[in-house]
Amino acid sequence: MKISEIFKSGQPTLSLEVFPPKTSEVYDSVEKATNEIASLKPDFMSVTYGAAGSTRTYTTAIASNIEKAGVTALAHLTCVNASKESIREQVEALKAAGIENILALRGDLPEGMESTEDWVYKHASELIPVIKEFGDFCIGGACYPEKHPEAADLKTDIANMKKKVDAGCEFLTTQMFFDNNLLYNYLYRLREGGVTVPVVAGIMPVTNAKQMARIIKLSQAFIPRRYVALLDRYSDNPAALKQAAIAYATDQIIDLLANGVEHIHVYTMNKPEVAAQIQQNLSEIIPSCKKSVGV
Ligand code: FAD
Repeated sequence: MKISEIFKSGQPTLSLEVFPPKTSEVYDSVEKATNEIASLKPDFMSVTYGAAGSTRTYTTAIASNIEKAGVTALAHLTCVNASKESIREQVEALKAAGIENILALRGDLPEGMESTEDWVYKHASELIPVIKEFGDFCIGGACYPEKHPEAADLKTDIANMKKKVDAGCEFLTTQMFFDNNLLYNYLYRLREGGVTVPVVAGIMPVTNAKQMARIIKLSQAFIPRRYVALLDRYSDNPAALKQAAIAYATDQIIDLLANGVEHIHVYTMNKPEVAAQIQQNLSEIIPSCKKSVGV
């Protein structure tokens, strides 16, 4: 099913992100975890695409399993160093696997690369028309409440978002954020900039301290004092940290829903128990969570 159709139901949604294996040795364990997450029957599941397409076949295989489990899949696709032919091949493989939704991304610059100058497709907005040429997909894109790290300022970044939407992007999923006020401010600016497509809020329950250090480095996300205190207090007690992180994420989600943000995407880091606990916490609030926990 197309995600644009799911959003038309007017109900709040909870979707879950998984990542594919990096090597064949861990394929079975990742497949098991992603199947378990699919058995929770979220509104849809997204599958990331490794840097420079390193996991491309696994992205398709995992997304295909998700569809077979009866859950709508959203496959990520980047244009890092991609040719029109390589995009065509990937899109045809997704189509053959019954996938109807693609998150079109530029991808991060590979280590040591300073710019996208030599790439055929330099921005997600240039990838979208190519995907459309090869199939009838619902296409989403990424957005950044704290602005994309390479953008000069938020205004420029939002003007670039508008180009992405004008190219055919039907919804945007946000980079993770830990302070909802950042999103509320961003949504206001986005709407003011003429971007009116649904925005899906990306929430990351950070269940270990090492993960947080990596996240800050990669996303440059602002970490509120409240979260820092939580990490300080529980970083040497993994079970307590996991419980506290799930509670923090749940609190963030309930506040978002209460303030009219209808679509939530949880970065599960392939942890079925984290996804299941969040669904449980929202079982009276989001219809798909209620169905999933059978209450
Ligand atoms: P773009 O939309 O192309 O934007 C990149 C930069 O270029 C921004 O600064 C923007 O302002 C600017 N820009 C955009 N369009 C134009 C234009 N027309 N002219 C001039 N400037 C422009 N990475 C992966 O490798 N695999 C994944 O699976 C993956 N999944 C992600 C999922 C989400 C929800 C998010 C938020 C990010 C994800 N990423 C993934 C990371 C993403 O690839 C990087 O953040 C990347 O640096 C930017 O990708 P983008 O699609 O947002 O790029």
